[in-house]
Amino acid sequence: MARIVQKFGGTSVANLDRIRAVAGRIKETIEAGDQVAVVVSAMAGATDQLVAWTRELSPIHDAREYDVVVSSGEQVTAGLVALALQAEGVDARSWLGWQIPIETDDAHGRARISAVDGDEIVRRLGGGQVAVMAGFQGLGSDGRVTTLGRGGSDTSAVALAAAIRADRCDIFTDVNGIYTSDPRIVAKARKLDKITYEEMLEFASLGAKVLQPRSVELAMNHGVRLQVRSSFDDAPGTLVVDEEEVVEHAVVSGIAHSGNEAKITLIRVPDRVGVAASLFGSLAATNINVDMIVQNVSEDGNTTDLTFTVSQPDMERTLRLVEDKREELGFERVVGDADVVKISVIGVGMRSHAGVATTMFSALAECGINIQVISTSEIKISVLVASTYTELALRSLHSAYGLDAK
Ligand code: ASP
Ligand code: MG
Repeated sequence: MARIVQKFGGTSVANLDRIRAVAGRIKETIEAGDQVAVVVSAMAGATDQLVAWTRELSPIHDAREYDVVVSSGEQVTAGLVALALQAEGVDARSWLGWQIPIETDDAHGRARISAVDGDEIVRRLGGGQVAVMAGFQGLGSDGRVTTLGRGGSDTSAVALAAAIRADRCDIFTDVNGIYTSDPRIVAKARKLDKITYEEMLEFASLGAKVLQPRSVELAMNHGVRLQVRSSFDDAPGTLVVDEEEVVEHAVVSGIAHSGNEAKITLIRVPDRVGVAASLFGSLAATNINVDMIVQNVSEDGNTTDLTFTVSQPDMERTLRLVEDKREELGFERVVGDADVVKISVIGVGMRSHAGVATTMFSALAECGINIQVISTSEIKISVLVASTYTELALRSLHSAYGLDAK
């Protein structure tokens, strides 16, 4: 007997037929002798609609009331899934965030979970009942409903799995696993059987929307075994596990890309102490996240160019803010470019292998692709290139690292 958390995303509970199918799948798991706690998202599109309503009424909304509205989608599906299970003759009960409780801080709209009491759920599961929990929501330290940020029901599922010491947390979604690259672009992309937490964290942070990055972090910290799998078939998905569990390490596990980048270049910046501190300090103070940064020492000791990237929606705001600092910093002009893509090769095997970067640079050079910015971490090399090269770059790197399906 195993204790399993099954999380169903919005497309899996998009209508009553799918909710019945979900109930059927849960019933099969119960009949196989396992205990099941379920975590649900809102029906596909429901949260977008709720968010739109709050914006329409009040562009500068009160975050506490925003949470009251947008958390409601999950309440509906939790109740419906419990009803569908009961209709199948399965003993089931729904749970809202405050009833567990899923305790969070009071950062409304993007709250972080601080504690989860799993005792009552464990008792119910032991008594043969299925617990169906509404994802995405919690109880703030101010005593009010909070939400965990978009995609947050993944994090709810992992937090519950950790609290009830589940053997596994299955994330049922509309893709059947994690791929070596985006299969819509790279036809030879392969589904991975296993991926490490760290690699998954990189993929998730780079905008592969399959898992909320915070959920991967939480799973890593609590050793929760995650599985990403399709709710529309029975094929095994991708297991997200500890590094020791992956026997055959490819040096590179996958190639990710993010088109949500914008490049900002300050031209002819005086090369003197304090420029970077002042510039990036101002950006941080306005909550603009900076990703890649390149700067050279000036050859003549006078001026240099400084380039960095921000997310595309922040580009205009960044340009205005930098322009306002032109006199203070003394640069000549600032230019923005949104026609860029960040391509990243990811793999824990990189730690112990030389030449990984060279392979990347050579493959891109052979295709005539110019690299604009480079950044690296222990398990990732990212380059910024013109967005017209997205497909060519992904495909050629996928081949260069031997990832192509046979
Ligand atoms: N329903 C929420 C959203 O759409 C939470 C989730 O689905 O994970 O962001
Ligand atoms: Mg999701």
